[in-house]
Amino acid sequence: MYTRHRPPFGRKTRVRVRNETVADNVNSRWNGQFSCYDLVAKTAARSRTIVHVGNIAIGGDSFVVMAGPCAVESERQVLDTATAVANAGAHILRGGAYKPRSSPYSFQGMGLEGLKILSKARELTGLAIITEVMSETDVDVVAEYADIMQVGARSMENFSLLERLGTCGKPVLLKRGMTATLEDLLRSAQVIAVSGNLDVILCERGIRTFETATRNTFDVAAVPVLKTVSHLPVIVDPSHAAGVRSLVPVLARAGVVVGADGLLVEVHPQPDKAVSDGEQSLTFAQFDSMMQDLEPYLDLRVNADRLYAAAGGLD
Ligand code: PEP
Ligand code: MN
Repeated sequence: MYTRHRPPFGRKTRVRVRNETVADNVNSRWNGQFSCYDLVAKTAARSRTIVHVGNIAIGGDSFVVMAGPCAVESERQVLDTATAVANAGAHILRGGAYKPRSSPYSFQGMGLEGLKILSKARELTGLAIITEVMSETDVDVVAEYADIMQVGARSMENFSLLERLGTCGKPVLLKRGMTATLEDLLRSAQVIAVSGNLDVILCERGIRTFETATRNTFDVAAVPVLKTVSHLPVIVDPSHAAGVRSLVPVLARAGVVVGADGLLVEVHPQPDKAVSDGEQSLTFAQFDSMMQDLEPYLDLRVNADRLYAAAGGLD
């Protein structure tokens, strides 16, 4: 692949970019735009990455559900939630022990004590654990307890954290920043990859737009675009996209049919009493019925690839 650059004297030259291995049949709209992120861009040689967490495969044929509270608040809250989401079919327990809050006066998380509670829940239920790491100085302690290291939207461009995650020995779930383009997201993924860790999962969690009816705007096109230009698994977080629990199941359904590899969703025993994000958290019963609702849509997931192909062969 070549990019034309106009040198200062007006003479046209052809400059070869690093990524000529990027699959030729990627839609021309994106061809080259993402290809400098050569470790995460889809190539003929690498079209799909499957991230393995124990016996869970993310980015393969099955749809992986990660569910749990926004924040770890108590042992009872986490153990009850873990049991409920496991019974409803979730594979991975989420829960923030270190919380990035927009206000310094909001609950900041239980820290190490929270990590220990999560690991107790893993022992009890067999669920793997995903939890957020906010600072490079916490990487070692979080990696000791977590199965997947979550990078929050507010940290997507914390490059020293991303670099440090390159050698943490655990898969990383990288959330899209609130005002980040998909190119920005892939640039951050490349930072983790170039630092030594190719086990990166991308997460669309809604972006900030002029719309105020929802907390963020769920960029549904992000899924097929990312699946087209990158080999990394892509999951969706309908909770932070919607900001309101009534929309979570229908946005989850949308994520499934556009070909997402999984879901990250907030669930709380008593959402009205949650210390954070209660208004977007599902009750146990609502989570269970969402899981049942998604069942028939899972068969449509594979059609997403076929549809891209029918529309001109995106990959
Ligand atoms: C979270 O998952 O609870 C969270 C803080 O999400 P985000 O970083 O997407 O805002
Ligand atoms: Mn949250």
